[in-house]
Amino acid sequence: MSYDVVIVGASVSGNIAAYECAKRGLKTLVIERSDPMKGYRIKPCGGGLSQIAIDEFPQTEEFVIHKTRDLVNRYQDIELISSVPIYMTNRNELDLGMADMALGEGAEYRFGTSWSPDGDYESDWLIGAGGVTCPVAAGLSYKRDRVPVKVAYFNDPKWNMADESEFMFYDGFQGYGWIFPKVDFIDIGLGGIDTGKRVKELYHQYLASHGHTGKPQWHAGWQIPMTWYPDQKPIQGNTILCGDAGNFVNPATGEGILLAMRSGRQAAMVIAGELEADDYPTFAPHLGRVQKMRDEIDDIGVGEFFEMGQRDKKFFDEVVEFMFLEKPPPKLKHRSEDEKIAMYRNLLADSVQ
Ligand SMILES: Cc1cc2nc3c(=O)[nH]c(=O)nc-3n(C[C@H](O)[C@H](O)[C@H](O)COP(=O)(O)OP(=O)(O)OC[C@H]3O[C@@H](n4cnc5c(N)ncnc54)[C@H](O)[C@@H]3O)c2cc1C
Repeated sequence: MSYDVVIVGASVSGNIAAYECAKRGLKTLVIERSDPMKGYRIKPCGGGLSQIAIDEFPQTEEFVIHKTRDLVNRYQDIELISSVPIYMTNRNELDLGMADMALGEGAEYRFGTSWSPDGDYESDWLIGAGGVTCPVAAGLSYKRDRVPVKVAYFNDPKWNMADESEFMFYDGFQGYGWIFPKVDFIDIGLGGIDTGKRVKELYHQYLASHGHTGKPQWHAGWQIPMTWYPDQKPIQGNTILCGDAGNFVNPATGEGILLAMRSGRQAAMVIAGELEADDYPTFAPHLGRVQKMRDEIDDIGVGEFFEMGQRDKKFFDEVVEFMFLEKPPPKLKHRSEDEKIAMYRNLLADSVQ
């Protein structure tokens, strides 16, 4: 069979790409190795959406089961609360809901089929949206790191319905633990740029600190590609990488759903001639800036950063909003020289006024 576009992976990036391609009249086939008729895979995920994700993709709001108003950032006994809402979804419902939308626009799906370059389909364009282990990205020798992440569901009456989410930070660890309230349970996880052994140790420490030492309702380990390599090309010939396959994850927060959807939409725009291939993805410069700030905070030390945040909460909030909400980076005018030097040694020089 011949198609305009074949898409590998029916998750957030692949489904949005399929919806946007089919909407533009392109003959579209999606190939997904798991099968909803035989117990669809559970995607290990926090399922948290930012305000930007909701604003840019209003169709996701239908899948929101709960919203937390504030984000509690913790380090040892320091607690800094930021007004950053997080919208909770159930990932399988979100993913399948988006597949439904694409089907509604005329995209074809083959579930329960692993993609192979020798499959009985040919196409002008190939979109690799198969996540962190995407075979299309592997075929392009696309470089990625794989940050270990662990996640579990627990019934926690104190937190199930909370209007706060929590992020917990540790010394010398580029990552965090999180609690996302999901109404009937909490999604509690931890991941970071470190060895699997360290992540496991910190994860058990984190679970124990919330009294969760028993058997969870469900648990899994997976990976997030949290390093952005700016020199790699996510479009090569007529192959486009989307979502985790293209390393499109916020390098500080690990937020990937928004960028998966954005890249899926932008891939369709490239194919339709609405976006230059060289400009894909348009959010790449932001990934580079966030990564620099993440590394800078790591150099300073997370403890020092939280102490700085206690002294100057406005500054802390500006950093959080830059990382989570894509707001402009903090201005330096009213910072002390020491803070400027520490925070911005090489960083964001072009934003300094
Ligand atoms: C534990 C954890 C928690 C997270 N929490 C959040 C969060 O709260 N908020 C957020 O924004 N992001 C979060 N992320 C990141 C987010 O889950 C990912 O960035 C996002 O799912 C990427 O979507 P994707 O479409 O690129 O790929 P994926 O969601 O990984 O989907 C890839 C799809 O491709 C299919 N596939 C793979 N190989 C093949 C093949 N050979 N043939 C056919 N199909 C194939 C898979 O079955 C799968 O359905 C989290 C990640 C993890 C691991």
